[in-house]
Amino acid sequence: MSECLFCKMVSGEIAPDKVYEDDDVLAFRDISPQAPHHLLVIPKEHIATLNDLEARHASLLGKMYLAVKAIAKQEGVSESGYRTVMNCNSDGGQTVYHIHLHMLAGRGMQWPPG
Ligand code: 5GP
Ligand code: ZN
Repeated sequence: MSECLFCKMVSGEIAPDKVYEDDDVLAFRDISPQAPHHLLVIPKEHIATLNDLEARHASLLGKMYLAVKAIAKQEGVSESGYRTVMNCNSDGGQTVYHIHLHMLAGRGMQWPPG
């Protein structure tokens, strides 16, 4: 059994508040939302950080962004807008070592991020 929190969500060992799923990608609501809509989009394959991406993952990353597009429509925020973020390692603020795309919406975002 994987010790990775997000792999446990993929396997069903932990049940997240799921908003989207296909063969390659899973998306669920963040447990500690930083905006009115805060979703995490993950690949079902365990990839620890952006540094572990390989050329064979290119289409998988595209599928993650296509999932964001579908979720934005589902959540009704396509036109108002949203932000996507993927953190890498400690300076990037990564705390869960299975890559995930944050999707935040429902309020005006600040720039630069903290
Ligand atoms: P990171 O800091 O690695 O970019 O983002 C990890 C995200 O995972 C955080 O926003 C955190 O709130 C979220 N998270 C951590 N544990 C859980 C959990 O058990 N369930 C859900 N749904 N989100 C989690
Ligand atoms: Zn994992």
